[in-house]
Amino acid sequence: MTTWQCISGCGACCYLEPSERPDLGEYLTAEQLQQYLLMVGNDGWCVNFDRLNRQCQIYDQRPSFCRVQPDTFEAMFGIEPEELDEFAIACCEENIESVYGDRSLELLRFQQAV
Ligand code: SF4
Ligand code: SF4
Repeated sequence: MTTWQCISGCGACCYLEPSERPDLGEYLTAEQLQQYLLMVGNDGWCVNFDRLNRQCQIYDQRPSFCRVQPDTFEAMFGIEPEELDEFAIACCEENIESVYGDRSLELLRFQQAV
């Protein structure tokens, strides 16, 4: 049994470039999609992401769709709470591979953590 956890110094899920996430409209409400699109910077990264320190600058106020927790994942993806760890781990691996590469230190650190 593996337990999902976020690792420090990553932020791969904060790369929001919409063309990389063509199915956004399938799991975000119209309001959330608008909020999401407003957060996308010119370089594709979230405007709230501190790239130097790889940290969210609005962590306590981040939108619900940034939160890996049972209620948000059930609402967005229809994931039952008992499926959350496995699903969230797969999401992180996909994001990390896409942003940093499948041989990256970030992916190695994440896989060691979970
Ligand atoms: S991709 Fe996963 S491990 Fe990396 S910052 Fe996002 S939630 Fe954390
Ligand atoms: S609001 Fe924070 S957690 Fe959400 S994408 Fe932006 S930087 Fe990442």
